[in-house]
Amino acid sequence: MPKVDEARLWASLMEMAEIGPGVAGGNNRLAFSPEDDVARGLFRNWCQAEGLAVTADAFGNQFATRAGAEDLPPLLIGSHLDTQPTGGRFDGVLGVLAGLEVMRALNAAGHQTRRPVVLVNWTNEEGAIIRPMMGSEVFTGALSLEDARAMIDHRGNRLGDMLDALQNGAGDLAPGFPVSAYVELHIEQGPVLEAAGETIGVVKSGIGFRRWLLTFTGRDSHAGPTPMEVRQDAMVAAAHAVLIADAEARALPGGRGTCGRIESPNGSQVTVASRVELTLDLRHEDLAELDALEARVLGRIRTQAAALNVGFEVVNTANSPPVPFAPEVVAAVDAARLKNGFSGRQMVSGAGHDACNIARVLPAGMIFVPSVDGISHNEAEYTAPGDCAAGAQVLLDTVIALAG
Ligand SMILES: [Zn+2]
Repeated sequence: MPKVDEARLWASLMEMAEIGPGVAGGNNRLAFSPEDDVARGLFRNWCQAEGLAVTADAFGNQFATRAGAEDLPPLLIGSHLDTQPTGGRFDGVLGVLAGLEVMRALNAAGHQTRRPVVLVNWTNEEGAIIRPMMGSEVFTGALSLEDARAMIDHRGNRLGDMLDALQNGAGDLAPGFPVSAYVELHIEQGPVLEAAGETIGVVKSGIGFRRWLLTFTGRDSHAGPTPMEVRQDAMVAAAHAVLIADAEARALPGGRGTCGRIESPNGSQVTVASRVELTLDLRHEDLAELDALEARVLGRIRTQAAALNVGFEVVNTANSPPVPFAPEVVAAVDAARLKNGFSGRQMVSGAGHDACNIARVLPAGMIFVPSVDGISHNEAEYTAPGDCAAGAQVLLDTVIALAG
């Protein structure tokens, strides 16, 4: 049976990491950047050297096809090559280059699958400059190509213009084509597998999340002459909100609550804050629990703000329901894990991935491998060569199971 080559996979990971080096051993390879362009070119060259047919769709998603014995809808595998500005060498990259290693191992073994196998590099997964996972959104039709191209990033650049400036950017394919199933290998980005001493996470679902912008409106007043009991302090209401989100999420098994950004636009160190904006992100794997968490958190924040005589407005900015992965793909991943004797468990993905977008329209699944210290979106991100190879071997055996 075909086997992945750990040294070859590791050498490819390290060669890719030379493109867009960060400042602390990781990577800075933002979507649509010149570095992303170079990475896309290297990916194309590596795939073509394996005899794969490389194409791209109009949003720049790259596809490398290994023909099957029959003209059936292909099995799709892959992930992304773009990184956060202080990103690691494995987030996304492992899924793409392990997919390449799968192709190399199939070629080396002369193994012919029944279905074609297509390796994808999704455009702009990270969302460091604008919203994330856009390539897979365009692929499934959840986001139109026109709307995606018209978006403006936080620096004022139009995505379509940035895409057109790339040498290895948009291709001729219209977004989306028939696919039998999708499998994505990814680093866990959390501490669970490492803490348990396990090698493979069989991902059964993607967590659901919702985001809001909370605005607290109080009254500017002097920090000295204004007694505490007459203040309308928006900052204090926001501080309570942070603690309420944290406490409610801690009290719910599997819950997550994060207030990641706070702004006091007119803030001064000697003035009671009149306006504070706060982001809130709540997550849970179960839709009913997520609904209940939302009701508790927003209800308590509203009550607390009223008690402080502070106005409270909430605007929903993102919604992503929990997404179950396809039982047949989850079973194939677990069987591949067991066949190789790897320890592991079924788990929920706490991060969003392209697989979550794909799973809304097609059978999809994911494979996780351990992240040292659970660190990701950090240049220190690390996954050991043996764990990278283990994940690639599970991906390879899953491909053989699903592509025939
Ligand atoms: Zn990723």
